[in-house]
Amino acid sequence: MTKYDLHSHTKYSDGSLSVTELIELAIERGVTHLAITDHDTVKAHIQLAENKAAFASDKICIIKGIELSSQWNNMGVHIVGLNIDINSAAIKTAVVHQTQLRLERVKTISKKLTQRGFPDITQGAMTLAGEGQVGRPHIAQHMLEEGLVSSVGQAFNKYLGAGKVGDISNVWPDLEQVVEWIHAAGGIAVLAHPSRYKMTRTKRRRLMADFADAGGQAIEVCAGNQVPGVAEEMAAVCDEFGFYASVGSDFHNPDYRWVKLGQYPKLPKACKPVWELF
Ligand code: AMP
Ligand code: MN
Ligand code: MN
Ligand code: MN
Repeated sequence: MTKYDLHSHTKYSDGSLSVTELIELAIERGVTHLAITDHDTVKAHIQLAENKAAFASDKICIIKGIELSSQWNNMGVHIVGLNIDINSAAIKTAVVHQTQLRLERVKTISKKLTQRGFPDITQGAMTLAGEGQVGRPHIAQHMLEEGLVSSVGQAFNKYLGAGKVGDISNVWPDLEQVVEWIHAAGGIAVLAHPSRYKMTRTKRRRLMADFADAGGQAIEVCAGNQVPGVAEEMAAVCDEFGFYASVGSDFHNPDYRWVKLGQYPKLPKACKPVWELF
């Protein structure tokens, strides 16, 4: 029996587990193929390559992945790259570029928040991110710890989520650039969690068409915490645009009870699984 989970995070981005802890949990949950897809970094895979002996396991196959931040019509969208060569020039370029953007972005967000009367959050967020890519979840956590908001959810709802003052998405590279990096690294480009972008069906179809035009090969038909019916809707999109289907929990943290590692809705039968391309 195989069980795929092609979207997951570690401490190297906004996940809470170390690479070893994530892999151990995956094995415990019966996942046989796990893609580690941190935001804009491949540090987890570098760590694994450096400690091959320590992490060797015949129970699980680790797929090299990344979740790259992109923009479409000024809206933040995420593209997962699967089966990438982490030593390729393209991935190195992508990571350097995105890391720089993340560092600049946290300062821009901080500035916007100070204009709203908040203290500077740059250092606090950077400290929480540690060796990992800094992101809005670190800002939200810092704001919570400083008593500036009552929950991480509130930080997103009021200040950091889509369309709010701290949502700065127009800095990210476009779909073409991101897909090009992934392809140059020998990987497969997958549109992450398509149902999570707040847009009309018509607009979503345009995003799908543009993603296909950019060379995107697959979409996540089954994601964690997805409402019933979405998988079937996305299966129809795959049929229309010729996309392969990916599955992934987008696991970040074992304390988030609504997303479990290896858990997502059943893949509709008509779909061509993305692992046929591996
Ligand atoms: P960033 O990578 O800095 O743009 O932050 C995006 C990340 O924030 C996503 O990958 C999620 O992990 C997290 N996130 C997005 N929306 C929310 C929300 N409403 N509540 C908590 N976390 C969120
Ligand atoms: Mn995340
Ligand atoms: Mn994402
Ligand atoms: Mn993710």
